[in-house]
Amino acid sequence: MSRTQRTKAPAVILVHGGVGSPLSWQDGCQKAVEAARVVLQRTGDALASAVEAVRVMEYDGRFNAGCGSSLRLDGKTVEMDAAVMDSRGKLGAVAVVSNVRNPVLVARAVADTPHVAVAGQGATALARGLGLSGAFRASSFARERWRWWQGALQRRRAGEVPEAWRGFDLRRHWNFPGPYDALLQPLDTVGAVVRGPDGGFAVASSTGGASPMLRGRVGDVPFMGCGFYAGQHGAVAVTGVGEEIIRRMLARVIYDRMGAGAAPQVACDEGVALFPAEVAVGAIAVSATGQGVAANREMACADVAFPVTVSKARGTRR
Ligand code: ASP
Repeated sequence: MSRTQRTKAPAVILVHGGVGSPLSWQDGCQKAVEAARVVLQRTGDALASAVEAVRVMEYDGRFNAGCGSSLRLDGKTVEMDAAVMDSRGKLGAVAVVSNVRNPVLVARAVADTPHVAVAGQGATALARGLGLSGAFRASSFARERWRWWQGALQRRRAGEVPEAWRGFDLRRHWNFPGPYDALLQPLDTVGAVVRGPDGGFAVASSTGGASPMLRGRVGDVPFMGCGFYAGQHGAVAVTGVGEEIIRRMLARVIYDRMGAGAAPQVACDEGVALFPAEVAVGAIAVSATGQGVAANREMACADVAFPVTVSKARGTRR
């Protein structure tokens, strides 16, 4: 158990700050990559590294994840989704979790339970029981984003508000405890894909959702094969309009293309091309042969590739 195993192989860490995130936020992605690199160099664990990258971005406040999560239509409710997966078979997701600073840590904890996904109040209670909840305060970015949407939904102009929401009777469908008054928020999410020194792959993803959102809305992020996928051919993280991504099972489509021999860049380009231009979408992927990034909007990203020598005890907890 305590024998030291040394491995040497090129590793890759690639993160995105969500489709629609300005390139000026790249510093936040870079910080996440650096933190993930430290974890990967210390542990050799691709999943721990991907989780660390996302954890750092959840703390940033600009990205739509963790404390930067978009407020739902009532301007108060924050419900988040997150997921993790690796090529060893670890799989965990949370949906509509609240009062948690780092949903990705709750998703990681779910991966150590007999379940693969936990949602709503059960997820929030699980986080509390595991000591993963904390005083949650939406960042100023998140509040500004909500104010913008509040105005946009009152105007309901074409091009400013998604078509599906322009004629939608929101008052009739209002499902928040407070009275109907105002609304929503835009895109971006955070995600990380990692190729570890042993050739294994991992993905982690976290989001505050995509505007506009009723209470209880779940996007693509916690659905395997839609917002994320990892297996022997690589790892994929997706961002964009969850309702559209789910319909196309985008992460699995990109993964299957890589499994059929496509380079990650080609697979990501083809995946994003499946969407009409008005639907924001982005993807990052890593395989044994390379990495890829594609998006039909601006998308802050950062990556690092480096040879790793890891000293670790065999039997390390996964
Ligand atoms: N895909 C996320 C969702 O629909 C949002 C995003 O990626 O920006 O919840």
